[in-house]
Amino acid sequence: MQFDKELQGIRTVAIAGHIRPDGDSVGACIGLWHYIRDNFPQIQADMWLEKPDEKFSVLSGYERISQAGAKKEAYDLFVAVDCASYDRLGDAAAYFDCAGKTICVDHHISNEGYAGINVIDADASSTCEVLCRMMDPEKISSEAATALYTGIAHDTGVFQYSCTSPDTMRMAAMLMEKGIPCSHILEETFYKKTYRQNQILGKALLESMRILDGRGIVSVVRRKELAFFGVTPVDLDGIVSQLKMTEGVEVAIFLYETDNLEYKVSLRSKDTVDVNEVASYFGGGGHVRAAGVTMKGTFHDIVNNLTLHIEHQLMEQKEQ
Ligand code: 5GP
Ligand code: MN
Repeated sequence: MQFDKELQGIRTVAIAGHIRPDGDSVGACIGLWHYIRDNFPQIQADMWLEKPDEKFSVLSGYERISQAGAKKEAYDLFVAVDCASYDRLGDAAAYFDCAGKTICVDHHISNEGYAGINVIDADASSTCEVLCRMMDPEKISSEAATALYTGIAHDTGVFQYSCTSPDTMRMAAMLMEKGIPCSHILEETFYKKTYRQNQILGKALLESMRILDGRGIVSVVRRKELAFFGVTPVDLDGIVSQLKMTEGVEVAIFLYETDNLEYKVSLRSKDTVDVNEVASYFGGGGHVRAAGVTMKGTFHDIVNNLTLHIEHQLMEQKEQ
């Protein structure tokens, strides 16, 4: 599908990502927003997204992201990017509901296709990679390219994770040729950590526990600790990836407390375990090697429930 075609006759567009937006969600929103503004100036395009981390303010267009509120507007077109399910649209769902046409561009294997038109490629590294393919490369400005590159870089762990394909690299190369500040973007949005972020990372690593005979690792951050270190959930980005790097570990589990007896769970696997299957069982979703879910219960109950499923997969694999 080519985006240019879908924009014919459209006067207003709403672009939205998922709640607690990550680099791919932010990059996809801003990249598509620039693409429309640069090439279809007659179209009014708005971005509705939960406030992303300040570090993404290096992307031009960041300041034009708004938080969905009281203003109700029936857009001709609503584009959901990187959002695996309707409920993860957050407040932007109000615009989805009354839009003339809805498109979802995504790469989550758990996405069942909730929009009118669904472009879901579970083999793609990132939504930004899928978006690039839908755009005319000639029409991608350096601003759009910078945002799209950011999304690809974040979802591939800077071209490291197994979702990185030759196509991913070709797309990244095409974007690089637009003359974008790659190193600066990676430094500012991916590698740089605040002092507090490093402190909470250090605490999570120090207190992590090995489970499943060393094939699993788990750590948790509680609300009172968030308060003590003066951090918010966006500051916890990257902890689960660091846990996964532990030698011998196949699955990393990271939890943070969101409410009384409620935790947001992040799951990562290295080579064999399908963590999307585990997260989906409990009502979440994501990808085969990276998934998430919100669960209710005590820390120990949640970890026990998760490990039961992970152990089951590990046993089955052993038998094969
Ligand atoms: P993270 O662990 O970084 O929050 O998320 C890992 C992946 O799983 C991301 O692609 C994210 O979109 C997805 N994900 C995280 N939490 C949920 C959830 O509660 N529901 C669904 N469907 N996907 C999730
Ligand atoms: Mn993504």
